[in-house]
Amino acid sequence: MSDCIFCKIVNKEVPTNFIYEDEEIVAFNDINPQAPIHILVIPKKHISSLVELNKNDENLIGRIFGVINEIAKKEKIDKSGFRVIMNCGEDAGQEVKHLHFHILAGKKLGTKII
Ligand code: AMP
Ligand code: ZN
Repeated sequence: MSDCIFCKIVNKEVPTNFIYEDEEIVAFNDINPQAPIHILVIPKKHISSLVELNKNDENLIGRIFGVINEIAKKEKIDKSGFRVIMNCGEDAGQEVKHLHFHILAGKKLGTKII
């Protein structure tokens, strides 16, 4: 999608340091971190949100969680813990309409979900 900031990051139109990259998935630091470690993991393919997923994407979503596991070990937060957040739609405050998973870590996170 030409006007999507995350597609521009994937296409390297917006230079971004990738923490992880493979043929389907990239991860990079959030520009406005909400915790000492705040990483975004996204599919390269433009999927606007969770509700746009279809059956063919199930393997990709499983792979994203595998990548999150790998990143957690690489960033050494696998033992201390971390939170994964995915916002979907307006009430959740989804700002970027390209599916993404936040990894938050590096401090004691609040115990409340909202
Ligand atoms: P959400 O509210 O779940 O849509 O989160 C979107 C996230 O994308 C926010 O945490 C933003 O700080 C982050 N973000 C927006 N633009 C960029 C960018 N160019 N590089 C890195 N992170 C970004
Ligand atoms: Zn996109």
